[in-house]
Amino acid sequence: RVKAKWAGSQPKYPATNLALQNFDATYSLQLGEQWPSVRVSMLCEQKYGALVNNFSTTEGVIADLQSQGCRDFICQPVGVGALERLQAPGFPLHDNPSTLESVGVIQDLAPPRLRTNIKCFVFPGGDISRFKPSRPDLYGMLGYYLMDAASILPALALDVQEGHSVLDVCAAPGGKTLALLQTQAIRFLCVNDISVSRTYRLQRVLNSYVPKELLTEERMRITSFDGRKWGEIERDTFDRVLVDVPCTTDRHSVMEDENNIFKRARTKERQRLPQLQTELLLAGIEAVRPGGQVLYSTCSLSQLQNEYVVERAMHLAREEHGISLQVVDLRPITRLFKDTFHFAPDPHLGQLVLPHLTANFGPIYMCKLQRLS
Ligand code: SAM
Repeated sequence: RVKAKWAGSQPKYPATNLALQNFDATYSLQLGEQWPSVRVSMLCEQKYGALVNNFSTTEGVIADLQSQGCRDFICQPVGVGALERLQAPGFPLHDNPSTLESVGVIQDLAPPRLRTNIKCFVFPGGDISRFKPSRPDLYGMLGYYLMDAASILPALALDVQEGHSVLDVCAAPGGKTLALLQTQAIRFLCVNDISVSRTYRLQRVLNSYVPKELLTEERMRITSFDGRKWGEIERDTFDRVLVDVPCTTDRHSVMEDENNIFKRARTKERQRLPQLQTELLLAGIEAVRPGGQVLYSTCSLSQLQNEYVVERAMHLAREEHGISLQVVDLRPITRLFKDTFHFAPDPHLGQLVLPHLTANFGPIYMCKLQRLS
C-alpha cells in the first residue's frame, strides 16, 4: 500500500476538489438557493433503481422486490390517480408559453398515453436501502439491472412506439439501451459507442439480459463509430434517436478521483465538451426522419452542456442544414413522476432532475426535439 503523504505522484489538488470548486462557482449562480441542498446530496450516496428485465422470469423478481418495500415508480407513481396516469404524456400547454415560443416549444397532441413495458423499482423516498445484486434465472438471464432511476426518464420520454427504428448514438455501458429494449416495441435498434472497450462492455450487458434471438442482425446493429459522423452515414432514417452524450458526470466528478474529467491533464477535453455535445446532437438530428424525435440527455447540471447545447444545435440545424425543429414539452412526464424525483422548478428548456436527500437520484437533464422538416 502506498502511504498517501509519501506518494510523489499524489496531485496537490484532487480532481474531486477541483470539480467541487468549479461547481460552487457556477451552480451557486445557476441554482441559487437550491445549490447547497443539491451539493450535499451529490456528496452523499446515490440511490439506485432496479430496471426489471422482461426477458427473464419476472414473477419471482417482482415479488421479491415488492417484499422488500420497493414499488415500480413507472406504473405506480406515488399520489397519482388512475385517470391522471392515463392522461400523463398529453403534453399540454406550458404555463409560461412566451419563454418557450422563442425556442419553438410544441404541445404533443398525440392521444394521452404512457403505455410502456418498462418497470423500475425504487425504495421509498428517504429510504437508503441498497439492492442486492441480481441473480440469473434458469436460462441465465439476470432479473434486473441497477442504475440511477432518473436515467430511465430519457428512455421513457423518447416514447418508443410499436415498429419504430431507433438509434442510440452514445450507448455504452448500455443502461438506457436496456431500458429501450424492455419496451419490446422496437423493430430495429442501432446501438453505437465510439469506445471499443465500452462497446464490449455493452455487448456483455446485452448478453446477460437479452435472449440471443433478439440480438440478431435483422433486429440490432452494434457499432463503434464516431457519432458525430452519423449525418454522413445515415440521414433522415430513424423514428427515434437517443443522444446521451459524454458530459462532466457531476456526481462522479465530486466523488471519485479515478477517471475524473476535472484532472488538470483533461482540462482541454472538458472545455471541448459543449462543442462535442453539439456535434453529437446535430448528428442525431440529421439521423432522425422528418416527423421523428430526438432525445438529448446528460448527467450534468451545467447549462453550458444542457440548454445552450440544445439551442446551438437547433440553430445550426436550421442555418446549415435547413432542418426545422420544435421542442416537445416534457412537463407531463415530470408531473407524473414528481413524487419520485425532485425536478428543477422553472427550467428554461428541457427538464432537469436535481439530486435531493429524500430522492437522491440524478442529476439528469433531458430535452426532446421533434423534427419538422
Ligand atoms: N447511454 C449510456 C448508458 O445509458 O449506459 C451512457 C452513455 S455515456 C453518458 C456517454 C458515452 O458516449 C460514453 O460511453 C462514450 O464512450 C461515448 N462517446 C463519447 N464520444 C463519442 C462520439 N464521438 N461518438 C459516439 N460515442 C461517443
